[in-house]
Amino acid sequence: MHLARFPRVKLCHAPTALEFMPNLTRHLDAGPHGSPQLWIKRDDCTGVATGGNKNRKLEFLMGEAKAMGADHVVTQGAVQSNHVRQTAAVARKLGLGCTAVLEHRVPTNDPDYQDGGNVLLDNLMGIDIEYRPADANMQAAIEEVGERLKAQGKKPYLIPGGGSNPTGALGYVNVAMELVSQANDIDLRIDRLVHATGSAGTQAGLVAGMAAMNAGVRVLGIGVRNPKPLQEANVRKLTEATLAKLGVSAPLAADAVECNCDYVGAGYGIPTPGMVEAVTLLARHEGIFLDPVYSGKGMAGLIDLIRKGAFRRDENVVFLHTGGAVGLFAYRQAFSAAA
Ligand SMILES: *Cc1c(COP(=O)(O)O)cnc(C)c1O
Repeated sequence: MHLARFPRVKLCHAPTALEFMPNLTRHLDAGPHGSPQLWIKRDDCTGVATGGNKNRKLEFLMGEAKAMGADHVVTQGAVQSNHVRQTAAVARKLGLGCTAVLEHRVPTNDPDYQDGGNVLLDNLMGIDIEYRPADANMQAAIEEVGERLKAQGKKPYLIPGGGSNPTGALGYVNVAMELVSQANDIDLRIDRLVHATGSAGTQAGLVAGMAAMNAGVRVLGIGVRNPKPLQEANVRKLTEATLAKLGVSAPLAADAVECNCDYVGAGYGIPTPGMVEAVTLLARHEGIFLDPVYSGKGMAGLIDLIRKGAFRRDENVVFLHTGGAVGLFAYRQAFSAAA
């Protein structure tokens, strides 16, 4: 996998740290089945705009945008989208215009949600924001914005929700290589890599990268939106497209794509007790801030699986922290009882 063949803009503070979590491991080890050894890969610290996983994808997406001579990027997400915040920041850094279309996907009128957190930062960057109702066709919305910009003589580059297409997924092929190299350096055998999965690009890139290297690292995505059959189908389709882009012709193993969607709760962006517990535990035991929409639910899934005995104590589990802590400021109410 020779990623230098693809246009890229270096943005991330990388390699991000791979750290052991001794206190969380000890805390969960007191449970009925003990705990595996818990590690964390700090992709919440990728740099630009407080970091997060989208910066990894944006290295390749913005590389392509620049190669195509774009002067404006258009993307979409939920109101508290971390992807929109990171895309806006990278656009500003590269001197490009930016339009974001935000979907009222989460049913809430909480002013913290509507105007705080990521939205506050989006507005600080002065990007153009348009809103759409829940369940709008958001891909159609960015295409419509793109046509309008073209009619004004601009050269727009459209980025799908979450930056999840084969170009964006290259960012996580790169992380698969980075992580395996770090683990090799410290003699760490990784038995499981666990993370939150939404628009599928993170998991697709990781699975494609691990498969292409024949690394033998099993990846588990904890879903935050879709039911398992749909999420696994989305991840598989994007993994196969990413492998094709890389020129890897070996077929993907039937069990390479694994998602657990038991921790979504009432819906995307709606808090669950497990999420509140996970965010609180990581803050109190490790001084690490997860987020309420993605990594909090991902960690809630990992914690529940540990308590159910899904791992042995001598296994090494790496949790990929995908970022999003800015979203905590949009969810003050969910954490008021934990204070
Ligand atoms: C977007 C996002 C994810 C999910 O990544 P996908 O590539 O969309 O599956 C996970 N965590 C955070 C914090 C995110 O912003």
